[in-house]
Amino acid sequence: MIMPSNREPGAPMESGIPLCIPNVCGNEWAYVKSCLDGGWVSSVGAFVGRFETEFATATGSAAAVATSSGTAALHIALLVAGVLPGDEVIMPSLTFVAPANAVRYTGAWPVFVDVDPHYWQLDPASVLNFLEEDCDRVDGVVRNRHTGRRVSAILTVDILGHPSDLDALSAIATAWDLQLVEDATESLGALYKARRLGGISRLTAFSFNGNKLLTTGGGGMLATTNVEMARRARYLTTQAKDEPIEFVHGEVGYNYRLTNVQAAIGVAQLEQLNTFVDRKREIARQYSAAFSPVEGLTEMREAPWARSAFWLYTVRIDASVLKTDWRNLLPKLEALGVQTRPLWQPLHKSPAHAQSYSRPCPVSTRLQSECLNLPSSTSLTSADQQTVISKLLGLLKVV
Ligand SMILES: *Cc1c(COP(=O)(O)O)cnc(C)c1O
Repeated sequence: MIMPSNREPGAPMESGIPLCIPNVCGNEWAYVKSCLDGGWVSSVGAFVGRFETEFATATGSAAAVATSSGTAALHIALLVAGVLPGDEVIMPSLTFVAPANAVRYTGAWPVFVDVDPHYWQLDPASVLNFLEEDCDRVDGVVRNRHTGRRVSAILTVDILGHPSDLDALSAIATAWDLQLVEDATESLGALYKARRLGGISRLTAFSFNGNKLLTTGGGGMLATTNVEMARRARYLTTQAKDEPIEFVHGEVGYNYRLTNVQAAIGVAQLEQLNTFVDRKREIARQYSAAFSPVEGLTEMREAPWARSAFWLYTVRIDASVLKTDWRNLLPKLEALGVQTRPLWQPLHKSPAHAQSYSRPCPVSTRLQSECLNLPSSTSLTSADQQTVISKLLGLLKVV
C-alpha cells in the first residue's frame, strides 16, 4: 500500500485507495459494442438522443441537450440565459474554476461572493448584500457601481453533491430581474425539497467527467425546463446550422456535441444512477458516524431541505482543537496509501480571475483551509473505508 513517490499529486493511484474513480460495471460494454458494430461512432447515432431523453426523464426536466463537457454545457447555458459580453454574473467563490471560466468565455465577468458556513453553498444573503450594497438599479438595469457593468445573472454551483438553496436564490433573481443558471455538475442525483436537480432551474448543467457521479469518459448535459431554450442550446452546440444542404449558419456556433460512443456509455451509467447515489450516501453515513464523536472534526452536513448525493465526502478539521490541518495530513495519508484532496483555491484569490470583482469571502477562505476530501468512489469497499477512517483518526491521535 506504499505509494510510488514520483507520482504527480492528484494523479490516479497505482495502489492504495483512490479519491474518486469511475465505476463501469453495467451495460457500458454492450452498448459501446453495439455502436462500434453498427459503425455509429460519432455525433450521429441513436444513443445521443436516447441519452438525452432518458436523462430528461431521470431528472424531471423538459428536455436535455448532451454536450462535450460540463464546461461546454455551462457556456451554452449562460448564452441561452442571455448573458452578454461585458455583463457580470454573481457566483460563489468556493468552487472548481470551470463555471468562472465559462462566464469569461461569454465575454462576461464573474463576481465572487461568499458561501454559507453550514452547507457550504452559495449564500443567498451574500448575493443580496452584493446587490444591495454594491449595485444601483437604473431603468430596470442592475449595475455594479464599482465596475459600471450590468449584472445579468446568478450562477449557483451545487458543490460536493449538495444542492444550493434554489428557492431563496430564485426569489432574489426574480426580485432583481436576473437570470438564474445552475451548475449541478457535482450534484447529479441530489434532491432539493424532494425534487431532482435538473427539473427545477430553467437551465442546469451537468458533467460526466471521469470523477463525477456518472461518467462518459468526458461529457456534459444541459437540462432545461423550457423546450424553447433546449432548441436554442441544441442549435448553438451544433455550429448554429440553419440549412443543412448548403451549410448556411445563422450565427457563430460551437462544436460541443457529445459523440454516440460516449452517449452509449452514458445510457449505461444512467441506469445505475440510483444505485450510485445510494452507495455515496452509505459511504457518507459511515464516515459521519465515525467522525461525529470526535471533537474538532465536523462531518459533512445535509440541509433539512436537501437530500445530498454526497459526491465527494469532505471532513472539516478544526486546527485549534486537533493541532493539525490538511496540509500536514495529506502527505502522511498519501504515504499510507490513502488519496485525499483539499477544496479548491477560492476563486476570489485565483490569479486566473484576479481582474474580477469580489466581495469579502471569509467563509470560503476558512473552509478551504480546514476541509479535506476523502475517498468516495462508489466502488470503495467497506474494508477500504475502514482503513481510511482508522488511518485518519490514527494521525489525529484520537483512537
Ligand atoms: C466538474 C465540474 C465542472 C466541469 O465539468 P467538465 O465536464 O470537466 O467540463 C464544472 N463545474 C464544477 C463545479 C465541476 O466540479
